[in-house]
Amino acid sequence: MNELQKFYPVTAQAKAHTFFDKPKYQELYQQSISNPDQFWAEQANEFLDWYKPFESVTNVDFHKADIEWFKGGQLNVSYNCIDRHLTERGEQTAIIFEGDEPSDTQNISYNELHEQVCKFANVLKQRGVKKGDTVCIYMPMIPEVGYAMLACARIGAVHSVVFGGFSTESIKARIQAADCKVVITADESVRGGKNIPLKANVDAAVTECPNVHSVIVVERTGADVAWNDETDVNYQQAMATVSSICEPEVMDAEDPLFILYTSGSTGAPKGVVHTCGGYLLYAAMTHKYVFDYRDGDIYWCTADAGWITGHSYIFYGPLANGATTLVFEGVPTYPDAGRCWDMVERHKINVFYTAPTAIRALMGIGDEYVLDKDLSSLRLLGSVGEPINPEAWHWYYEIVGKSNCPIVDTWWQTETGGILITSLPGSAGMKPGAAGLPFFGVQPVIVDKEGNEQDGEARGALVMKGSWPGQMRTLYGDHERFHQTYFSQCAGYYYTGDGAQRDKDGYYWILGRIDDVLNVSGHRLGTAEIESALVLHPKISEAAVVGYPHDIKGQGVYAYVTLMHDEVESEELIVELKALVAKELGSFSKPDLIQWAPGLPKTRSGKIMRRILRKIAENDLGTLGDTSTLADPSVVEDLIERRLLR
Ligand code: ATP
Ligand code: MG
Repeated sequence: MNELQKFYPVTAQAKAHTFFDKPKYQELYQQSISNPDQFWAEQANEFLDWYKPFESVTNVDFHKADIEWFKGGQLNVSYNCIDRHLTERGEQTAIIFEGDEPSDTQNISYNELHEQVCKFANVLKQRGVKKGDTVCIYMPMIPEVGYAMLACARIGAVHSVVFGGFSTESIKARIQAADCKVVITADESVRGGKNIPLKANVDAAVTECPNVHSVIVVERTGADVAWNDETDVNYQQAMATVSSICEPEVMDAEDPLFILYTSGSTGAPKGVVHTCGGYLLYAAMTHKYVFDYRDGDIYWCTADAGWITGHSYIFYGPLANGATTLVFEGVPTYPDAGRCWDMVERHKINVFYTAPTAIRALMGIGDEYVLDKDLSSLRLLGSVGEPINPEAWHWYYEIVGKSNCPIVDTWWQTETGGILITSLPGSAGMKPGAAGLPFFGVQPVIVDKEGNEQDGEARGALVMKGSWPGQMRTLYGDHERFHQTYFSQCAGYYYTGDGAQRDKDGYYWILGRIDDVLNVSGHRLGTAEIESALVLHPKISEAAVVGYPHDIKGQGVYAYVTLMHDEVESEELIVELKALVAKELGSFSKPDLIQWAPGLPKTRSGKIMRRILRKIAENDLGTLGDTSTLADPSVVEDLIERRLLR
């Protein structure tokens, strides 16, 4: 543990604001574990409106991979996110939209949201969409992506949102896998000043999707697009002709709400299925308590709707809580690297939630873009997606948060539906780089290779004992793979696939993917800790570590490092970096090989794809595995070119 990882007690500001101080958190956590049925029944009635009360709370058997929550209960997700708020907050802004150009902004009230969603639902009905049908959504980050999701939820259709940055092949595969008959898209999307031809990508995809009978096209840029009169529907024209009344469909708690693919960091993406009742409860409750959300707060999560973070923490969680949530179409570096901070200043953002990849990138560009903005509205900062390196944490905490905003490092997965581990603001101090403590009802366990539970301070595979309402129910069309992936490695537990360490205070530190954990001369080393040590160096902005076969040690440490803007490669720097890791973590962790990496291979959600880096390090270039979610293939070619072992 180094200087940067020292403990930060709860700030006075967080104490004054929080729902839970430490004793309250501990008490409620205990209740949630010792009497989960009562605990979750209370939460389900507090957070959601039900048409029909549930008859039981949980029916869970991890051995069979059978998971049910709130059996017998009936509700509608769009009703819970919109209609029930109308009497009290119809005029309140539900969505603040900001387009790619900073001047392009729009406020959408709950009343307007209601009207748009009802109309959109009627457009879908007009095209024959019924309860249980699957609908593919391939959209820019514009309000209509939210309308589309909620319109599906309103009529009981199951949406599958595909990130707008994916190409034809990925859309096609996802349309086919979920047997979608309708695709919702836009003519083009605009990101960082560049137009991306969404409709043309869909056109190319659906030539091999014979079951798609309708493509609904939102006009975003007004670009000329090819038109097929039989299948294509102009969204704006269709919306003008339909009624704005659409009764929500009564759904069972366990009816599917959506399918969503994982990021594909560790292999081919998995089609995760979430259901209506448990998912919405968990998204709403975690949104409120993790972000300390109060009425009137302006909340911004920078994720894309194509990822689970966008589902749970841009749309479903915030809207279920009647919040004001910001939808941003652009990128953090356009028109310049101050875009996020400019937006915080203009919209008076109180809660800001982003990913380490963005934090590291902005940190690498320099402080001047942050320091000239008024960020005094900020009260709380969040991080998600990867372990946040302590170096980046400090930049976020001090430069962005002015040492006054708690940071919630939130560990969770597409599969978990919502946040499972974090330090709840106000109830737990922060340790930079540690995800923190379990959320209510969540029981993390560390197991060894044989699957034995470890007590106290421990390192090993992170698994979950017992279920929580937001847990996925199956992989679409492949329950066997669901069982195999999550419940076969460690019988009776949910297997997360991540490695973790629990410290003496019960905080969880995510070490990286369990398959990436290195075994160097018998020492198990997490990728995250070595990477964090490397980025401590002021000249390094990002690092990725993998193992490679080593004659003596079994595995050697192979590090890829990205220099800060304006820094240059040198042999001395390599020596310094090795010494730095040895000093921080001991000589076992010292990289054997360090390769310069002007860019790292990342998924389109911004996560480092170490499995590709491992292949390059091992000089095993025959097959790089599933690269469909790789953001920029040229990065890989460049790294192959520069590889150290041949
Ligand atoms: P795939 O499952 O297809 O390989 P993925 O695991 O990257 O892709 P996601 O569901 O988007 O897909 O990401 C979940 C993973 O992201 C977690 O298992 C964990 O490894 C990592 N992660 C998310 N948040 C954090 C965090 N706060 N700290 C550390 N790791 C995190
Ligand atoms: Mg995963």
